[in-house]
Amino acid sequence: MSTTPQRTAIVTGAARGIGAATAIRLAADGHAVAVLDLDEAACAQTVSAITEARGRAIAVGVDVSQPEQVEAAVARVASELGAPTILVNNAGIIRDNLIFKMTVEDWDAVISVHLRGAFLMTKAVQAHMTAEKYGRIVNLSSTSAQGNRGQVNYSAAKAGLQGFTKTLAIELGRFGVTANAVAPGFIATDMTRATADRMKVSFEDFIAGASAQIPVGRVGEPQDIAATISFLTSEEAGFVSGQVIYVAGGPQD
Ligand code: NAP
Repeated sequence: MSTTPQRTAIVTGAARGIGAATAIRLAADGHAVAVLDLDEAACAQTVSAITEARGRAIAVGVDVSQPEQVEAAVARVASELGAPTILVNNAGIIRDNLIFKMTVEDWDAVISVHLRGAFLMTKAVQAHMTAEKYGRIVNLSSTSAQGNRGQVNYSAAKAGLQGFTKTLAIELGRFGVTANAVAPGFIATDMTRATADRMKVSFEDFIAGASAQIPVGRVGEPQDIAATISFLTSEEAGFVSGQVIYVAGGPQD
């Protein structure tokens, strides 16, 4: 258990996968957690996991790419749980294709959720953080930021989030706010399952193939990312800012 005092944390895309594991972990760390996702009802499982463990959580439905929805969601979190001072920008989608087949809609959708979404959420939440003179922002990047076949949209968004993170660190540091990016490698979630489907291989074979390429000999679990975010959002991580932490079972070039 961390020594961090209770704060209000927002985790986007927290109905499942990495976001759900992170919300549950931050609640176990002692924070009140707002579980945000597109569909409020889909957040119920994450919220129950937290409240059954005697944690505090609410479900909030929001499309992070829509300014009015973001403003309303953050205002609701502030009034029901208190000023949010931890933000994890995790919501994400993939629309993979080779560039010659990628549509403008697939480009725009991915850029919109990852980059516009992180911008809107951070803009709304930083007002609370700067007023409180404390904040911890974590943005989900990816090893794909370094380039990945079939993902020009996603790799551009994930590389963009690294620049976004470093600039936030520079602008907000004086207000006691840190900003870091976590860049996962292969994590077993619905997102990687969808990639296996697209490549027409079973998820089991996809995992076995990936594991063979990863120095620690396994793929990641959502809890691997949640544990890293737990540290970066803790009080004691106050001198770590503007960093990109690759959590991929081995070094990155
Ligand atoms: P996931 O299982 O697909 O979960 C993503 C969640 O985000 C879903 O619940 C989804 O809701 C939600 N979401 C999508 N668009 C949204 C929007 N506009 N507003 C609010 N919520 C939205 O994905 P994951 O694997 O846990 O990935 C989480 C993050 O880690 C993403 O940013 C991803 O790019 C990143 N990442 C993942 C991996 C990996 O190997 N899994 C590796 C590197 C980075 P719906 O279900 O309704 O669509």
